[in-house]
Amino acid sequence: MKRQSHLMEKLQPVKKSNRTPQRRCVGCGNSFDQNELIRVRKAQDGSVVVATGRDEAGRSAYICKNVACLEAARKKRGFDRSFRCAVSQKIYDKIMEELLSK
Ligand SMILES: [Zn+2]
Repeated sequence: MKRQSHLMEKLQPVKKSNRTPQRRCVGCGNSFDQNELIRVRKAQDGSVVVATGRDEAGRSAYICKNVACLEAARKKRGFDRSFRCAVSQKIYDKIMEELLSK
């Protein structure tokens, strides 16, 4: 199997054989595979919800599946910044519920 040099891979991060898209956590700011993160989505009516399934409509933000990142996001209002609007504390609570139920 042919492999390009590490340098080339660094220049083309999107073209890696790894098919999972990388997304940035609004809590810690690091990038992870999309399927390792919780997706939060802003619906067309402006409400912010935890995305389930493959609903693609609206703007999305991502967060790690851990309490530390959620608390960090809450502290620095990570979702507010991603969605460019005020996100209710209830949303953070809702995500916390999701975390603790798993
Ligand atoms: Zn994180």
